[in-house]
Amino acid sequence: MSIPSLYVAIKCGACYANTEHDGDQYVCFDCGLCWSNDDVFDGEPGEFLAEDASACDHPSGDTKPVVKVQPFRTVDGIVKEWREWTQIYGPCVLPAGHKSAHEHPLTTTYRDLDDTDAFLAAALADTEGQQLVQDILDRVGATK
Ligand SMILES: [Zn+2]
Ligand SMILES: [Zn+2]
Repeated sequence: MSIPSLYVAIKCGACYANTEHDGDQYVCFDCGLCWSNDDVFDGEPGEFLAEDASACDHPSGDTKPVVKVQPFRTVDGIVKEWREWTQIYGPCVLPAGHKSAHEHPLTTTYRDLDDTDAFLAAALADTEGQQLVQDILDRVGATK
């Protein structure tokens, strides 16, 4: 009989495979990334394993931004503005030649709808729209 040993896994933040520790840093060879020992605890972004590598830059397949209209809620729970949220996926940030799947960073931006009243009037013009707006308001726990 033997007592089991401890198993600690530090996973790559891009492909989630276990990294290898080479004595100085944690390395993901498939992604071509490395992290210093401190990064593991500080949540710092990794670095290119080959310092002179350039970014893969593969364009995101999700080029069309996702647009969602959602109410912005103040601390007192009153809906102030209806905001149009847009999610944009950027080109791959991993080093060129990586063997893992592409990593497309996500940016989320918003703009306040220019004419909230017009948006709500249009949305509330039919029963389907009324239900949609009510569902959104219920989800954020807000009052109109
Ligand atoms: Zn990886
Ligand atoms: Zn890539």
